[in-house]
Amino acid sequence: MAGASQESRERLRWRLADESEGPQQALFEQEAPTWRAGHGEFRGLEFLEVKAQRVINPVPPQSRMSFRYTINAYRGCSHACSFCFSRPTHEYLNLNAGEDFERRIVVKVNAVERVRAEVAAKRWAGDLIAMGTNTDPYQRCEGKYRLTRGIVEVLGGARNPFSILTKSTLILRDIDVLAEAARRTSVQTAFSVGTVDDEVWKISEPGTPHPRRRLEALAHLREVGIPTGVLAAPILPGISDSTIQLQALANALVEAGVHSASPIVLHLRPGVKEEYLAWLANVRPDLLERYDQIYGRRSYAPKAIQAEITARFRTAFDAARGRGR
Ligand code: SF4
Repeated sequence: MAGASQESRERLRWRLADESEGPQQALFEQEAPTWRAGHGEFRGLEFLEVKAQRVINPVPPQSRMSFRYTINAYRGCSHACSFCFSRPTHEYLNLNAGEDFERRIVVKVNAVERVRAEVAAKRWAGDLIAMGTNTDPYQRCEGKYRLTRGIVEVLGGARNPFSILTKSTLILRDIDVLAEAARRTSVQTAFSVGTVDDEVWKISEPGTPHPRRRLEALAHLREVGIPTGVLAAPILPGISDSTIQLQALANALVEAGVHSASPIVLHLRPGVKEEYLAWLANVRPDLLERYDQIYGRRSYAPKAIQAEITARFRTAFDAARGRGR
């Protein structure tokens, strides 16, 4: 129980909806989590250990995602990206989308055993499962709990296809089980890299490994035959979208052996937008007016802006590839 204030505990609401369920659906088996304070390399974090009733979750039918099921063994993410689209998921728990999201990480401690049971169930048809959709499966606490590693082993053993999206080099720890899984089923890994600008990285993704380390990890996974790619996202208007920055990103991707990449311009859904604009007011108040013009009441930048950034990135990428020939 150390580390958590009484107020925080009282704010928690442990009977709640998962993203894909109605509001009365219980997500966890117990009424209250076990709180643990992080020590050593995990100092500053708190872990809220829970037992989940279900770990493989269907995505809402209206979703345009290419996958139908997800696993998120954690909730919250110590990578603390300013633009993180998952921040509002903490509010389902009556925790906040700011510091609580970054420091108070919900850990589904029974995730590996639940996945083993769920993929063995007769009704499970063996669909592809996406990891990294709402939290980074290789964020810092994976070094302690090793849930992603266990899940990879279970899915590989069951020949169940899966994908992993991460910003972390910790994935390299699991090369052995990923390679074994890739021999048995379809495995796709991907790294999010939206910039290689040191200053932008430091302020916008403060808990992540440096983007160039991610690209080294990508090259390493590729060398050992694990399929991997890049999501060039998000590109932050006014912050990481200059032609020089896009060229540096394209060069780094090509040097890492990436053959194709499409940029995704920042989108700001309600809940995320408030957090992001508060961050922006702190680090780049001069951009607030511009963001108001771009996003206003919208979640997405206008199509013309998206197209203009995409065109400049493509030009940069083609130039980088041309140089590499
Ligand atoms: S790594 Fe992904 S899930 Fe984690 S804070 Fe960043 S954007 Fe959010």
